[in-house]
Formats: sequence, C-alpha cells, structure tokens
Amino acid sequence: MPDGQSPPPLTDVFGRTVSYLRLSVTDRCDLRCTYCMAEHMTFLPKKDLLSLEELETVAAAFIRRGVRKIRITGGEPLVRKDIGDLFDRLGRHMGEGLDELTLTTNATLLAQHAERLYAAGVRRVNVSLDTLDPVMFKTITRLGDLQKSLDGIEAARQAGLKVKINTVALKHQNAAEIPAMVEWAHAQGFDMTLIEVMPLGLTGEDRVDQYVPLFEIRDQLADRWNLTDEEGRDAQAGPSRYVRIAETGGRLGFITPLTNNFCAGCNRVRVTCTGRIYMCLGQDDHVDLRAALRDAEHPALALDEALDTALMRKPEKHEFAIRERGEAPALPRHMSMTGG
Ligand code: SAM
Ligand code: SF4
Repeated sequence: MPDGQSPPPLTDVFGRTVSYLRLSVTDRCDLRCTYCMAEHMTFLPKKDLLSLEELETVAAAFIRRGVRKIRITGGEPLVRKDIGDLFDRLGRHMGEGLDELTLTTNATLLAQHAERLYAAGVRRVNVSLDTLDPVMFKTITRLGDLQKSLDGIEAARQAGLKVKINTVALKHQNAAEIPAMVEWAHAQGFDMTLIEVMPLGLTGEDRVDQYVPLFEIRDQLADRWNLTDEEGRDAQAGPSRYVRIAETGGRLGFITPLTNNFCAGCNRVRVTCTGRIYMCLGQDDHVDLRAALRDAEHPALALDEALDTALMRKPEKHEFAIRERGEAPALPRHMSMTGG
C-alpha cells in the first residue's frame, strides 16, 4: 500500500462493512448454562490458545482495517488468568482507532475485575443473567451462585461501568419471570436485552423445551405495559431491536435470530480463542488467523490477506430453525466456542 494511504476497510461482497470484532479469549467457563454447554465439556489444551501478544496483534490488525469496537468474550473471559493484562494492552488502542472496548460476562468474577476494567478504558459491560431466583439460577447455570453474579453487577456499577443485562428466554425456566426481571433491571437503571435460544451444539437438553419465540414474550409485555419502538440509527444498529417501556422508564432489546432475521445490517465478525475467524455465528465457514500469526514470514501481511479472504466469504445470512424434538443442532459448535 502506498505511503500515506489508510488500509481499506473490511467490506464484504454484500456491501456490509465490519467495524465490530468479538474476540473470544477462552472456551472455558465456571458455569455450564444448559442452553450453552453440555454438563461435561472437553476444553481446548491451553497451548492451542492465542497468547496475549497474539490476541493484541489480531486486535491491532482489525483496528488498522477500521474496526472501532471490540467485545471480549468466551467462554467466560474473566476466568482467563491474564485477562487484566489483555484489557490493559487493548485499552492503549482506545482513541487510537478504537472507540469502544467492552466485554460480555456472567459476572461471577466481575467484583474482582471491575475497577481494573474501568481503568483500562472499559465503560460498559454486558452481563448475562437469566433469572433472579437462586434455585432457578443453579438449575440454568448448573454450577452458579446467583449472589456472586449480583455482587459482580453491583461492583461494576460502583466502579462506574454501565451494565446491560442479557437474558436468554427459556420456555420452561424463565419465560414467566421475564416481566419481573425487566422491572428489576430498569429499576436499577440497566438496559436489558432478551435473546432467542439458538440451536448451537449439544447441551443435553432438547431445544424444543427451551425455545420460546420472542414475539410471544413481547405480546405478554405489551398486555401489561406501553412499549414504543425506538427509531434512529442507534436503535437500528446491530441485531437488537429496542423498545422503550413507559411504565418502567427503561429500554428493552429483542434479539431474534430465529423469528426475524437481522443479517442485512451485520457489521461484525468473531475470532475464537484459537484464532479462527468466523464470519457468521450461524455458519461453520472460518479462516485460520493463527497460521498467519505463527507460520508466516510477514505476519502482519499474512493477517491482512487472511482478513481479506475471510471478508470475501462472509455469507449473506444465517438460517436457524428449531422445528422438532430430537433435531440435531444447526451447528455442532457450542456458543462458548465463538463467544456469542
Ligand atoms: N460467559 C459469558 C456470558 O455468559 O456472558 C460470555 C460468553 S456467552 C457464550 C455469550 C452470550 O451468549 C451470553 O449472553 C449467553 O447467554 C449467550 N448464549 C449462549 N448460548 C446461547 C444459545 N444457544 N442461544 C442464544 N444465546 C446463547
Ligand atoms: Fe459460560 Fe457464558 Fe456459556 Fe453460561 S453462557 S456456560 S456463562 S460461556
């Protein structure tokens, strides 16, 4: 590339530009949520994971190509031992191409990390929380302690982080509790987003017993409250469609991968902790960035080429369905591999 020219943005064949990277730093987790993982999981050997330096090199390559937002995810990102150092490193890119550094977490370890995250430049966190009932929390997460996650959320707030609650709607487990959760989240001043369960990986439960289409939940909420669709650029960005609820005063998002496809506006790609770039959560095609990092004579050049290859293969859309009992997952890969 001639001097003085900025590298080309990451634009795919459908004209969508990628400005958002979700970077997974581990496939491990201290919970085993029944919609995400099986009870007994085999995790990757540590040597297969990208090192801190490699993760930063990957992030920097994306930033050079116009990525402005990075979300750290997993597995549970905060179980990775050197995670604080990674945030310190990535935080140095804030204002130098990067507008936002954030993470998605189950909050079990957030109390330990909240202040350092803030110091590194993180301002917002997404916390996954599917119930406020301690017994149901244990049932859904198999291993969790609700109070630990609530303490993590409170610590985040104390540290100055803005919290958004993500809740996967589960037919027999939390669907009836969702209005109470919305009330709680909005009373705390938190935005909240509901997510339809996606058929990714075998978890030991039938997806038919988990899946509830979000239009049903929305209808229930609309019977009780006044919901107004949010308009404007912010409300249309990303997969979430937001409403404002007059009575609670808060925002509620709906992510509907099964009932309402949002891929036309997709601006993101995902990189796993082993350096695979997945261009779509709902497809198996991927490009190996680790080979470019570890084997190439000129890693920066090889990374750039790998990103170009990946972008050319970004598919138009995902196609998920949960039709009948006993159906195989859409993909064998668990959500914890690609980081949600
Ligand atoms: N451990 C962190 C957490 O739970 O927030 C980050 C990783 S987790 C895989 C990212 C998000 O994916 C969480 O909000 C989780 O609820 C969601 N998720 C996991 N499996 C899912 C599935 N099968 N369908 C829909 N969402 C899922
Ligand atoms: Fe762990 Fe997050 Fe998956 Fe739950 S959703 S098992 S917290 S990675």
